[in-house]
Amino acid sequence: MSIIDTPKQLPSVDRLLNDAAVAAMVRDYGATLVTGCARNVLESARGLVLAGQSFESNDLVDNLGEEVARAVRPSLRRVINLTGTVLHTNLGRAVLPACAIDAMIEVARGASSLEFDVVAGKRGDRHQHPEALLCQLTGAERALVVNNNAAAVMLTLNSLALRKEVPVSRGELIEIGGAFRMPDIMARAGCKLVEVGTTNRTHAADFEASVGPRTALLMKVHTSNYEIQGFTSGVTEAELASIAHAHNLPLVTDLGSGTLIDLEDYGLPHETTVSEALTAGADLVTFSGDKLLGGPQAGIIAGRHDLVEKIKRNPMTRAMRPDKITLAALHAVLRLYTNPARLAEQLPTLHWLTREETEIEQLATRLAPVVERCCEGFRVTVAPTHSQVGSGALPVDQLGSFAIRLTQPKLRRPGKALEQLARAFRDLPTPVIGRIADDALWFDLRCLEDEAEFIDNLQGLVIP
Ligand SMILES: *Cc1c(COP(=O)(O)O)cnc(C)c1O
Repeated sequence: MSIIDTPKQLPSVDRLLNDAAVAAMVRDYGATLVTGCARNVLESARGLVLAGQSFESNDLVDNLGEEVARAVRPSLRRVINLTGTVLHTNLGRAVLPACAIDAMIEVARGASSLEFDVVAGKRGDRHQHPEALLCQLTGAERALVVNNNAAAVMLTLNSLALRKEVPVSRGELIEIGGAFRMPDIMARAGCKLVEVGTTNRTHAADFEASVGPRTALLMKVHTSNYEIQGFTSGVTEAELASIAHAHNLPLVTDLGSGTLIDLEDYGLPHETTVSEALTAGADLVTFSGDKLLGGPQAGIIAGRHDLVEKIKRNPMTRAMRPDKITLAALHAVLRLYTNPARLAEQLPTLHWLTREETEIEQLATRLAPVVERCCEGFRVTVAPTHSQVGSGALPVDQLGSFAIRLTQPKLRRPGKALEQLARAFRDLPTPVIGRIADDALWFDLRCLEDEAEFIDNLQGLVIP
């Protein structure tokens, strides 16, 4: 081992690559990647030496090991969601149940019957795999699965209303996160939006007056991420359906989150179910697979036979079709819905939404001292908080929960210290994501499942 304190003492890239440990890296990750990393490491070493620092030659190999590890680490990784938002769009929305993960692995592992009818020995249809269960669970005649609900809405409009008019209430012209704006979607789908009523009040007569010879369908959009309160009036599904049907037009409802079960049975606020929307008269309903349903990213179009068939024949369906892994996961999740009695125990989304406050409090009480031991200088307490469903479902309803709350009592302006602390938690081997509010860092424990893993992971915490 030698001390390096002048640029001349730095090895060449070739010499560094000849080191035994570096040769092992080359075998594992390939010469191109390791050579590129070696150049970066030598470049920054040169800078340090010129700035007057010195180090040992072995440090170069260690630094290269870290540089290579950084270069190959996927940026898409598992994290621990302690934000208190159960369906967090930025954190991947629904966490899948074990049965869905097994199903995905099974079809990923080998060839599958994706578009092959094993009984007949002929070509099959990928869209058939989830259809029977979807129809059974929603009462729909037919169902079609695409990549996400945005695609479901887009495809539905493009198939049924191309170059035609679609009246929508002004109170429902929503924008949800990620630039999904109903007016823009309509324009790209090739149809003309006809705005009906006012922001806070829309009446049946307004819709009646909006129907003309160029009207293709009536549309109702679930106002997922907000609620208009006060002097308001909307047109119900049933009223809209009767207006649509009187003019021989279909009613399409974008439910957004959409649920297959009555959430009131699980002690949660009511949310229109897919079958309720269909029973009330919607001819088609669109909803997400990874919101309240608790499944993989998908968009589901369910409803009338002839309409689904027309959508299926649209060439754009091919561009939005789900892959085998999604279909396998979706089927496994839908299967759980056939037994609602065990659903809350088997489906993580529902399990967390219905988790007892006292259970969360006990978990927080057990973990707070462990967190405290790792966070010198911060005050750690157990505090009541509110979790959110997220993803636009039940936007104004909050669920009582408990959090581990970290504060920095010594600082009058703790903002920066808390940012750094949050960063330290994000730097853990499995990043832990909380939220900063009211001069504290909060970890809402509603969605923490694996206590032992959490404690183990914490051992890597480096407090700034
Ligand atoms: C979430 C949502 C969408 C988009 O669904 P994705 O599955 O995210 O594509 C569309 N409409 C409404 C009302 C929504 O809430």
